[in-house]
Amino acid sequence: MISLETKIEEVPKIGLAYAKRLKKFGIKTVQDLLFYFPARYDDFSEIISIKQARQRLGQTVCVQGQITEIKNTNTFKKFMAMTEAIIQDDNAEIKVIWFNQPYLAKTLRENDFVCLAGKISFYKEGIYLNNPSYERINEIGENEELTHTGRIVPVYSETRGVTSRWLRYVIKPLLYRFCEQIQESLPPEIIKKYKFLPIQEAVWQLHFPSTFPHADAAKSRFSFEELFLIQLNVLKEKMKLMLKKSPACPMDANLMKKFTDLLPFQLTDSQKKCAFSILKDLEKTVPMSRLLEGDVGSGKTVVAAMAALSVVKNGHQIAFMAPTEILVKQHFKTVSDLLKNFDIKVGMLTGKDARIFKENETTEVSKKSFNGDLENGQIDIIIGTHSLIQKGVNFKDLALVILDEQHRFGVEQRDHLIKNKKLVPHLLSMTATPIPRTLALTVYGDLDLSLIDEMPKNRKKVKTIIVEPSQRKEAYEFIKKEVSEGKGVFVIYPKIESVATKAEAAGRPTSRGMSDVPATSGSFAVQNYFTPSLSQLAINEVKALKEEYERLSKEIFSDLRITMLHGKMKPAEKERIMLDFKKGEIDILLSTSVIEVGVDVPRATIMMIEGAERFGLSQLHQFRGRVGRSDMQSYCFLFTTDPSMLNRKRLKALVESNNGFELAEKDLEIRGPGSLYGTVQSGIPDMAMQGLTNIFLVEKTRASAKEILEKDPELKNYPMLHERLKQFQQRIHFE
Ligand code: ADP
Ligand code: MG
Repeated sequence: MISLETKIEEVPKIGLAYAKRLKKFGIKTVQDLLFYFPARYDDFSEIISIKQARQRLGQTVCVQGQITEIKNTNTFKKFMAMTEAIIQDDNAEIKVIWFNQPYLAKTLRENDFVCLAGKISFYKEGIYLNNPSYERINEIGENEELTHTGRIVPVYSETRGVTSRWLRYVIKPLLYRFCEQIQESLPPEIIKKYKFLPIQEAVWQLHFPSTFPHADAAKSRFSFEELFLIQLNVLKEKMKLMLKKSPACPMDANLMKKFTDLLPFQLTDSQKKCAFSILKDLEKTVPMSRLLEGDVGSGKTVVAAMAALSVVKNGHQIAFMAPTEILVKQHFKTVSDLLKNFDIKVGMLTGKDARIFKENETTEVSKKSFNGDLENGQIDIIIGTHSLIQKGVNFKDLALVILDEQHRFGVEQRDHLIKNKKLVPHLLSMTATPIPRTLALTVYGDLDLSLIDEMPKNRKKVKTIIVEPSQRKEAYEFIKKEVSEGKGVFVIYPKIESVATKAEAAGRPTSRGMSDVPATSGSFAVQNYFTPSLSQLAINEVKALKEEYERLSKEIFSDLRITMLHGKMKPAEKERIMLDFKKGEIDILLSTSVIEVGVDVPRATIMMIEGAERFGLSQLHQFRGRVGRSDMQSYCFLFTTDPSMLNRKRLKALVESNNGFELAEKDLEIRGPGSLYGTVQSGIPDMAMQGLTNIFLVEKTRASAKEILEKDPELKNYPMLHERLKQFQQRIHFE
């Protein structure tokens, strides 16, 4: 007996081989398959006569007719098998050509009636229907129950060996049998309030819509539902956290004043405001969960240092985590320096190194003694990479966790740091990635937000220039001149890859005819799988980089000191190179897009980006943020190879705006939600991703989730919703 829970390999038409392929999409059960939604549709709903079709050269049409002739031939170059047929209706006929499907001459026979949908094309011998989708019908005029033609036809994200045609062929009968058994998951009051389609109808209409408005209605229901689940998830986590307690750290206003008085600069108003909200949060026993957001160079570190100072002076410890060793070392230096007058012991821990800064001196220590010091409270602030959450690292009294650019650090890791203690530490997460409001309210919806939205006054705006191919020489000359004045140059070189390989490398299903908009592939049954070919990609990337290195160092800048930096290098090597660059022993640093976020090289005044059109606006903005970190005028050169309008529009946005937020919103507008950094790999379902462009939808889902949870925190009265939420959490965790 087959049911919604039946494993797909047990479904007669599917079998083991297909089941294995479908698992790549995360499809395991009949229900999963029914929730595997199309990426787009082909509109073959208008069926016209063959006579009319013959007038529509270049258009896609749908016709019905009887086959009068069908045979296999070869293309003149003999590369491809070709099937030729003639079909006719009451008063006209047309030739049909299929490529590479020799079995068709057996599947379709003379005298069969067919419905065909394809493009009217022209070749020497005349008009023909080019490679159409086909299905057999009983008579001309039949338009009930068509699956592949003569209707709005679903097109799914495909993988090797699983075509849209096959999916339609399998899904449709399953829908007939099981659609009515799918249980409603949204609360009835929500369905009523927003006039959503009930789940069964929505599932049906998403696969085989009667009209496009029906498909849209179904889609908006599921967009809502997905976002709603995300909201329930974050809000529930938040409620759980609210029940816990953190050490209260009262703020000492005099101490803070002393700190700011000792700074060589004045805090900006934004910095003051943010520091104040953080210090106020820390006074409470409710665990702080705050995201400090500010453009590159806006001065987040000082704010973090103030929070750390306050917590240390209340007698507790701080863990400060950064994504790379280079950044850890930079933070170690900065924080030690900022706090040097306050008798605070700062430690640094990376994969290999352990160092302690106290009484104005840095000493290397063994990991063992380091861990000992940490455990008995000899170290106040520990700065490190992920090594901080490893076994053997125990705190005496951890009260604050500071994270720099660690988007994925979640509640679990926080729990990990404290182990079985009763109190949880406060959490301050910092990022230079501008997070559009929709995203802040969903994926980061459990965090309170502080924004540093102004730059220190001494900064000069980076001049951003789009460099046309004809202006390359000029730009190179300019760079030489700057270098001769002792300034440093970053060159960013993009990965070279086609859209297809990109999709494959990420394990994402590719679909013929799909545009390069990344976020529309498939359904929320789809996960982002990263396959081993990703490392292959990295190797190609290095190869391309080496070629560029040869070109620059031999042909363009033969008398300058150029060095490469890429992700395949060992951390120590990367660090040495960064330091040399910082010290001025390297003129030009050629790097892939993997160069570290946040590294401070004030002498670098030029950021030159090759193939700029390949990067998203937010990423380009991040690159640009590596220069302009001193009072010297800095430049960002955008080299392009593809002058298409769309790219032009994007790059112009970068020239015109220096504001990371504006750019992120623009990116969202131009490239769609796939551009959102941190979501692509977050396991967020595609439907929800699309919903993320809609602030009204996001606000609605948030309000609804709050309402439900306030009434019924455990969702006891909503068993189906509870079930869906559990499945959803598993999916997210799985990532
Ligand atoms: P980010 O926000 O990118 O982490 P940092 O904290 O690294 O920025 O600060 C960038 C630089 O700006 C540092 O050298 C820091 O000392 C300096 N800085 C921070 N705040 C100010 C300020 N208010 N005025 C001038 N310089 C500042
Ligand atoms: Mg920083």
